[in-house]
Amino acid sequence: MSPRILLLGGTAEALRLARRLGPESIYSLAGLGRVPDDLPCQVRVGGFGGAEGLAAFIREQGIELLLDLTHPYAAQISANAARAAELSGIACWALRRPGWQAGEGDDWREVGDWVELVAVLQSFQRPLFTLGREPLEHLHEIPLHQHWTVRCLTAQQGVPRAEIIGARGPFALDEERALFARLGTDVLISKNSGSQSTEPKLQVARELGLPVLLLRRPELPAVDREFLQPDALCEALERRLV
Ligand code: NAP
Repeated sequence: MSPRILLLGGTAEALRLARRLGPESIYSLAGLGRVPDDLPCQVRVGGFGGAEGLAAFIREQGIELLLDLTHPYAAQISANAARAAELSGIACWALRRPGWQAGEGDDWREVGDWVELVAVLQSFQRPLFTLGREPLEHLHEIPLHQHWTVRCLTAQQGVPRAEIIGARGPFALDEERALFARLGTDVLISKNSGSQSTEPKLQVARELGLPVLLLRRPELPAVDREFLQPDALCEALERRLV
């Protein structure tokens, strides 16, 4: 018998795993991105109402194992998952994707938050933001000497000194090279997601000798089992299924 799994998703790894779950299991999405309609498991969309709401859902649905495959920067849902598993007495397993590591020729600088980021950005003119929607809240604060490009999941109308590009990975190296060349980018801003699908931009920055400002990763809670690679998690899952 397979355990009834609740899989918290929002990443490519989660979707790949969801394709392997049976009809007794549930794949959960926050509802910001696409909702797949071709999965063998059940799909639900939207928040649970905090850790208590998630724990109640786990109990109501008779969930036996909670899997956290959310994005490394989705700290709230990961905290809720750890707490809800504790409250409902089931195990929580998490994929903790390692961050990218700087190599030869990289000029990477870590920043703690938006305020620190803006201070470091002062000496640049053409930043390319690839860390989600946060810069969109600050379009009225663009310094006069800067022109921003913000790449996030959905496009919206730009403003005189900012272009907003709607795009989702994976991104090809050649296309990233062309984008940097068209924009005249002089600094790249990113989360350190560790995802292969968004890694080519780092190579382009390296090739051009450009600095990369990386938003520091949030602290994530300890859970019953943590996996660095999706394959290791799948293997452990298969052993538990037999
Ligand atoms: P977050 O701040 O950690 O979570 C905010 C709230 O969204 C949670 O408290 C929860 O609401 C709900 N939520 C998040 N993930 C959920 C899921 N898989 N199923 C049901 N509800 C969920 O998360 P976020 O940073 O806004 O990210 C939202 C989603 O996008 C996550 O699933 C994440 O994996 C994905 N994502 C995030 C990023 C990123 O950079 N943050 C990048 C790519 C994908 P309740 O408290 O009401 O339960």
